[in-house]
Amino acid sequence: MSGKNVTEVVLADAAGIAKAVQILESGGLVAVPTETVYGLAARADSAEAVAKIYAAKGRPDFNPLIVHVRDAEQAAEYAEWLDEADLAAGIHWPGPLTLVLPKRDEAVLAEAVTAGLPTVALRAPSHPVMRALLEAVPFPLAAPSANRSGFISPTTAQHVLASLDGRIDLVLDAGPTSQGLESTILAIDRHGTWRELRPGPVDSDALHRHHFDTGLPVSGQSGRAKARIEARIEAPGQLASHYAPGKPVRLNAQGAAPDEFLIGFGAVPGDCTLSASGDVNEAATQLYACLHQAARADQRRIAIAPVPDKGVGRAINDRLRRAAAPAG
Ligand code: AMP
Ligand code: MG
Repeated sequence: MSGKNVTEVVLADAAGIAKAVQILESGGLVAVPTETVYGLAARADSAEAVAKIYAAKGRPDFNPLIVHVRDAEQAAEYAEWLDEADLAAGIHWPGPLTLVLPKRDEAVLAEAVTAGLPTVALRAPSHPVMRALLEAVPFPLAAPSANRSGFISPTTAQHVLASLDGRIDLVLDAGPTSQGLESTILAIDRHGTWRELRPGPVDSDALHRHHFDTGLPVSGQSGRAKARIEARIEAPGQLASHYAPGKPVRLNAQGAAPDEFLIGFGAVPGDCTLSASGDVNEAATQLYACLHQAARADQRRIAIAPVPDKGVGRAINDRLRRAAAPAG
């Protein structure tokens, strides 16, 4: 907690951003719009500030945070900037791609940010408000999603208040986020092994194919010979139960029982519909808004229509499986 019990919501205009900068410099917590979801930002170089993130979210201390930076140059202050990282960032930064890389010994980061791991997760976001903050402060920003741990991620300022009102200093409101899902997380190790730790808006298979097509040398060896990708999802904190609306969730529903709130897709119309035209990209932007609406609804249970496992649909289904997993 940051010692306050009133959370102020301000427009993310010049005055709002100036206020946020002041709070961040003094070690406070600000919920900030990014192109993925709203993040709960604090200065990543301060143990006290980072501890407030874990406390406000009720986040387990083994679940490390993503460090947000301006660009590759700032990222290289914190991680071993491997050739593959340069390639991936060259294509997708600024944007919804997080890279998990070996941490540099001299990185000035609070220990808790990386939860004691020898690696660090880095992202340069594209949202103009988050970028304005990163330009204005000399330190990087640790920022997990701005929700209580395990609860639904926020894509609006109102969603942030649904679980963090009174627990953080400020929310910068810039309307709904554009991508609607958390970043793709890709781990790259010194051996040139790529691993997708979390599917998201960036298609890591396509990125990997591009890598093979260009035949970029990998750590001094042939990329074709050495690089490989493992699509296994495996990250500390990639807990089975997450994004949970606090009610039982039934997947692959073609219709609803009387006590179910139905989230529709394509031919299945719902109380809230992800995309009537069956577009997975539109569905990604609507997913958390529908889950928030379902959580608030009178119905005791939630049913969700099937979403094709293609493109960003893979990331949607990853989140839906976790929303449906029993807690604990
Ligand atoms: P959130 O900030 O809530 O989107 O969660 C960030 C995700 O990044 C969590 O699932 C973490 O497990 C993952 N993450 C952060 N740092 C690392 C790391 N060093 N190694 C692997 N996963 C990480
Ligand atoms: Mg989260």
